[in-house]
This record gives sequence, structure tokens and C-alpha cells, in this order.
Amino acid sequence: MIRFEHVTKRYADGTTAVDDLSFEVAEGELVTLVGPSGCGKTTTMKMVNRLIEPTSGRILLDGQDIARTDPVRLRRRIGYVIQQVGLFPHKTVLENTATVPHLLGWQRQKARARAAELLDLVGLDPAVYGDRYPDQLSGGQRQRVGVARALAADPPVLLMDEPFGAVDPVVREHLQTEFLRLQSQVRKTVLFVTHDIEEAVRLGDRIAVYGAGRIEQFDSPATVLGAPATPYVADFVGADRGLKRLSVTPIEPGDLEQPPVVHLDDPLRKAAARLAADGARWAVVLDDADRLHGWIAAEATGAAAGDAPTEGGGDGGTVRDRARRMEAWLPVGAPLKQAFSTMLQHDAGWIAVLDGERFLGVLTPARLHEALRRSIDADANDIARSDVALETVNGD
Ligand code: ADP
Ligand code: MG
Repeated sequence: MIRFEHVTKRYADGTTAVDDLSFEVAEGELVTLVGPSGCGKTTTMKMVNRLIEPTSGRILLDGQDIARTDPVRLRRRIGYVIQQVGLFPHKTVLENTATVPHLLGWQRQKARARAAELLDLVGLDPAVYGDRYPDQLSGGQRQRVGVARALAADPPVLLMDEPFGAVDPVVREHLQTEFLRLQSQVRKTVLFVTHDIEEAVRLGDRIAVYGAGRIEQFDSPATVLGAPATPYVADFVGADRGLKRLSVTPIEPGDLEQPPVVHLDDPLRKAAARLAADGARWAVVLDDADRLHGWIAAEATGAAAGDAPTEGGGDGGTVRDRARRMEAWLPVGAPLKQAFSTMLQHDAGWIAVLDGERFLGVLTPARLHEALRRSIDADANDIARSDVALETVNGD
């Protein structure tokens, strides 16, 4: 969809801002450009809508050389969101959002209806905010209007230059979450500039890590974090890249451990035998529809052996009488980081992993570590995670 071919930009004073850049962004893909200040991110972006012309090389949009496209027509196909938003102070939120449709000559009613729809989409109730002026909004709300305005004419391409850079971290995280939800609905081809690696990792389908004027690595977030291509990239993504990587690595069925499973209505004696057969200290307990109920400890099933029969226990008891509830569970596909924080939150040595309501297995800290190692190896060798054989995990 967007293709850079050997693009170089040298400014009049001799600064080479971008040096022989080649990369491609697929249709519907969100690529983040990340790197320190001055490395050429903004220059890259502004060449796409021809606010800056390259010194050499060419940029293709949908197969067409943009140098041969009229800049005004080109920009109608490209939404542009910047940090300083640039809303018109004397126009209302609704009018600001309808700017491009107006310029395109849409009828007033249609443009306003479209603007209201977009405000709604970015989480601003048009009935509440539509008639306000920009200075009556918070910084985060202004950024939302900026996004709504860029989307109003439904351009296939969106350029975003540090759009959430000026808001505080909490609002920023909200905006990122909302933007991801929005993008999953509208599926634009997006170039998103940021100097924040966390933001780049969170939003990008792929990340271009910039050194001075060049891309040092162009890969999935998981690969950039797990297998940095150069020492520069490793340094840029930080010493805690393993932790960052947890948030982009999903739980897969192959990561899970399979403890013994018993059912609520099983007699305790049967459960005890099941546990003894596996030499396990506990079992997962499912209800009769195979939904997760909780767990039962080996001691709780075995109490029947020497004890005098007690109510609920002994020979006549069932698992239901001794099972404990388990609240720590996650859907398969959730990020490993969420698994880790769920374990901490519930002070649990394992969490259950479900597919819909179906119990798939459990994730333990050792399995979590293994999954992380496997996914790093898999990305480095370009194979499926389940095909990675680990030689040493916890010494076994
Ligand atoms: P980033 O967005 O990554 O911070 P920029 O693309 O804005 O980086 O700038 C890249 C380099 O080009 C920097 O060294 C910057 O000083 C230089 N630069 C940017 N704009 C101009 C300009 N108009 N004239 C000369 N140098 C510029
Ligand atoms: Mg910049």
C-alpha cells in the first residue's frame, strides 16, 4: 500500500535526515516508526503526503508514484494527525471534525452527520461535545477530535506523528486502547510515529526501529523485543525487553500443563485414585458441563483413608464437598504478561486457561518462562513456537 524505494532526504544545510530508506506497509497494517529525536521519523512521514519532497528515490501509494500525483488530491486520501492537533479555535468540535468533508464539497447535513458519527467512534458523545470549542476540552479529548477529523473523509491511509505525545501517561494509555479498538474496526493503513518503545510495541503490527536516518530493524514487536537485530536496537528497546515482550506474547495451547482433572460429582475415592496415579498434589475440578470450578488438594481427597467418616468426606463424599473455587483464569491468546499479573493478583501458583468456557490446561510460572523462551527462539528462527525444542528449562 505504501512503498518506500531507496528514499533519501538531504536538507539544504546538508543534513541527511533519511538515508536510502526502503520498506513497505501492507494494506490495513499499522506500522510504528520508533527512534530517538532527530532520527528522521517526521521527515519520513511528511514525504508520504508531500509536505516534504525526497532528494532521491520514490514513494508509491497503491502502486502509484506519489511524485506524479497532485498533492491536494493525494492528501485527500491521507488522514494526518499531529501532536499539536491544530484544531481551529473559533470553530466548534463538530465543525472542526467536518473540515475535510466540507473541503471535499459534501453537503452540510451530510458532513455534520459524518462528523457526529466519527466523534461517537472516538468516544466523544456529539450531543455533549459537538458544540464545544477546542479550549473547552481536555488534552486527551482534543487528541480524540484530531483523530476523528483525520478519519472524517474515510481516507485509506492515516499518518500519525506522535499524536498522543503531549498527554499524561494515564490518558495516553486510554487513547492507545481506544485507538486499537478503532483500528480493528476501520482497518486503515497507518504509519504511526513515536519515540516511545512501549507505545510502538503496543500499537504496531510491525515496528521500524530508526537509527540515524536508517531503519535498523523492521519486524514484529515480539521479534524486535526477543531478537534485536543489532546492539543499537537491543539498547534502544531496553534491558527490560523480556518484560515488554511478555505483553506481546500470547498464551498458546502448547504452553499449558495438564494436571489431573476430576469432576464435582466424582466420589472422593475415585479422585484420590486419579491423583495417586499421577503422583499429583492437586487436581483441577470441572463441573458436569466441563466448565472450570476450581481445584482439590490430594490431602482433601485422601482424608477418607484412615479417618473416621465425617459428613461430606469419607467414603460417601464427592469432590463437590472438598473442592475449592478458582478465580484465576484467562482466555487462551491472552498475553503472558496478563497471566503473570493474574498469578500475582490471586497469589496463585498457576492459572487456568480456557477456550470460551472449555478448560484447556494450566499455566505455571515454569511454563510461562518456557513459553517466553520458545517464542523468542521461534521468532529468531522463523518457525512455529510449538516446533521449538527447549534443551534446558528449570534443569529438565
Ligand atoms: P524526528 O521526527 O525523528 O525527530 P526529523 O525528521 O524531524 O526527526 O529530523 C531529522 C533530522 O533532520 C534532524 O537532524 C533534524 O534536525 C533535521 N531537519 C529536520 N527538518 C529540517 C529542515 N527543514 N532543515 C534542516 N534540517 C532539518
Ligand atoms: Mg518528529
